[in-house]
Amino acid sequence: MSSWIPTEKGSHLRARRVRDTAPEVALRKAVHALGLRFRLHVPVLRRCTPDFILPRWRVAVFVDGCYWHGCPQHSPSEFKGPNAERWRQKIQTNRARDRRQDEQLAAAGWQVIRVWECEIKKDVRSAADRVRSAVETRMG
Ligand SMILES: [Zn+2]
Repeated sequence: MSSWIPTEKGSHLRARRVRDTAPEVALRKAVHALGLRFRLHVPVLRRCTPDFILPRWRVAVFVDGCYWHGCPQHSPSEFKGPNAERWRQKIQTNRARDRRQDEQLAAAGWQVIRVWECEIKKDVRSAADRVRSAVETRMG
């Protein structure tokens, strides 16, 4: 990473999954309000820690940041500046890792729910409903 060219914009962007972001907390509250119980930041597979899990139903939930995970609406399609190619590659790598984790979790019997941070900002109730639907599918 040392070869990255520092930019003003880059300083607040981090490659690591950041925990307890505002959208993540908002979703947890909404899911809790639906009467669902979960556990936070439990590593369920090697190098795979969902933002929260509903262990009873084997549902794993990730809140994906629009920028880093390549939201179709909010990830810039045309990167600019000296690191443009690196950003593009980084986000592609993240997306590939997300897909791989989804497959590994599914193979281990987990139902994976990925929620974009923008979905939560727009309508946290409907985002929480997606989690509830996954649980109801598991119940049935
Ligand atoms: Zn988005």
